[in-house]
Amino acid sequence: MKYARKRVLVTGGAGFLGSHLCERLLADGHDVLCVDNFYTGTKDNIAHLIGNPYFELIRHDVTFPLYLEVDEIFNLACPASPVHYQRDPVQTTKTSVHGAINMLGLAKRIGAKIFQASTSEVYGDPEVHPQTEDYRGSVNPIGPRACYDEGKRCAETLFFDYHRQHGLRIKVARIFNTYGPRMHPDDGRVVSNFIVQALEGRPITIYGDGSQTRSFCFVDDLIEGFVRLMNSPDDITGPINLGNPREMTIRQLAEAVINLTGAKSDLIIKPLPADDPLQRQPNIGKAREILSWEPTIALEDGLIRTIDYFRARLQG
Ligand code: NAD
Ligand code: UDP
Ligand code: UDP
Repeated sequence: MKYARKRVLVTGGAGFLGSHLCERLLADGHDVLCVDNFYTGTKDNIAHLIGNPYFELIRHDVTFPLYLEVDEIFNLACPASPVHYQRDPVQTTKTSVHGAINMLGLAKRIGAKIFQASTSEVYGDPEVHPQTEDYRGSVNPIGPRACYDEGKRCAETLFFDYHRQHGLRIKVARIFNTYGPRMHPDDGRVVSNFIVQALEGRPITIYGDGSQTRSFCFVDDLIEGFVRLMNSPDDITGPINLGNPREMTIRQLAEAVINLTGAKSDLIIKPLPADDPLQRQPNIGKAREILSWEPTIALEDGLIRTIDYFRARLQG
């Protein structure tokens, strides 16, 4: 049977995750439309794709309507690091909520299947550990993280209402902390901060006492999960957790980065940001069962690849 080339829209395609997704979709033989307003993403992330006849780049802000014809939509547009999403919190909520409405309206008009990049932040500072999809979360609706957390929660609501009310085919992934090449060096996320600090021989900044936990997934593993979820049968809507269940304290992460870079950096303590979740670990039972997916790349291997990327960038 001849292979059918699909037209796939990736919003936020010039960002960290989006650029890896565009690359993967092109490698799978699809026609990729990348939409981005370059708020946190950069042309550098996708420069190597420009010139590929199956790749198109459109500068556009998803809070405004968009008229295109595609078969599938991956909606990733949204700043993702706390430093970035708190810089203009009103715009963050608009991007999540108006962006979701526009992309859902587009999907409805053209009958496209649509994927939402949701987040473990919908669980807030969780009282259930590890987090399962049926846990409803503990989010402070008026705190500094709310623009992101509540924006993403509202986007999930919109996805499920368009599904129930208009029969849209939806796929909602709740993404846990992911790292890898093309993270923004200044976006303030812990993996990029620690690696850049170590490579520059500066002190490593631990917020709070460093006993808070996260579970870090390498980007290639995550993208495999995206593709499996998008290609799953239509009755699989999610939400489905995608992340690496190996949990560690932030202090352990700092030690791993120091070991792998050979840095002489000291650890220094800075205040813990407001509403910073104390613990986070995905339960990926659903992804294992429904998508036969689980991460395959060990933290040390993923960190080495990420360190190599930042080392080349800092030298370049
Ligand atoms: P990123 O900041 O690198 O990428 C986001 C992209 O969206 C950027 O290219 C940015 O310019 C673009 N964008 C922002 N606002 C836009 C708008 N109004 N219109 C068009 N484009 C816009 O972040 P990322 O880590 O690649 O995250 C991608 C998606 O995955 C986000 O929706 C994020 O919430 C979600 N997510 C990421 C993680 C993670 O650990 N990386 C975890 C959970 C969820
Ligand atoms: N929309 C879009 N592209 C389309 C169709 C719709 O951007 O191809 C936007 C448009 O801004 C619209 C929103 O999606 O307001 C929601 O569309 P829907 O059809 O659900 O609602 P309505 O058009 O009634 O507002
Ligand atoms: N963090 C830290 N030092 C840094 C940056 C972050 O100790 O330089 C901590 C932060 O307080 C949080 C964890 O690392 O507890 C993960 O932070 P990140 O911003 O990467 O992601 P999120 O809080 O959204 O999970």
